[in-house]
Amino acid sequence: MGKSKDELLRLDPDCIKSRLKGFEILYLYKIFDGYWKCPDGEIPKYHAQLKSGVCSDSFLNSKVILKHENIRKIIAKQLMYKYLNVKRAQHTLDWGKPTHIGGIPNGAKELGDNVADIWNDVEKADLVKQKGIIKMNSILGDSDKLLLVEDVFTKGTASLEAIKSSFKSIGSGRVLPFILSIVNRGGLRQIQTMQSGGFVFNIISLHSIKANEWESSKCPFCEAGSKSIKLN
Ligand SMILES: [Zn+2]
Repeated sequence: MGKSKDELLRLDPDCIKSRLKGFEILYLYKIFDGYWKCPDGEIPKYHAQLKSGVCSDSFLNSKVILKHENIRKIIAKQLMYKYLNVKRAQHTLDWGKPTHIGGIPNGAKELGDNVADIWNDVEKADLVKQKGIIKMNSILGDSDKLLLVEDVFTKGTASLEAIKSSFKSIGSGRVLPFILSIVNRGGLRQIQTMQSGGFVFNIISLHSIKANEWESSKCPFCEAGSKSIKLN
């Protein structure tokens, strides 16, 4: 890496054949102004308020990188590499090649399509966000296996909605027990659904960061007079 924004935007996604390291993924966010972290021990003038309303000492904005088609394709390929190289022995869960891939809207919709495109014989699953709720529009058959893709994984609220809706439309096929994401910022390694006794989904990401979050009433930055700025 170490490339400028312009150089990155001119990169042919097919040229990158090796796996990028976590810091290289973060570099992409940084250079496109999609990552901010408060320096340790400082009270910043402003800090982030996330979609969920909580305050944080860091923010990640995938939109600024994923709006560029070539960068999106580079990341899509990295996600595929990551999935293929999952240490399966660490996961006692079912592993399998997906027949369908669905990007969780809105942030990862096109990214999911790109992952499906680079994989042979994999179809795009159509997840949409309607009135704030994530819905699966595709009907999947008995032998189908769906893999879900997210951009930034925080608490898994959107993922759980996507799983719930996918269960309804997948007949007796399967939703693969993984959420493939670019960055895990929530520290969770698994999420569990409430249906049928609970299915466990492992979070597989290209990079993980440790981000602190607080309810705004308990936020040390707010308390010290720093202003919270709504992001995303
Ligand atoms: Zn705050």
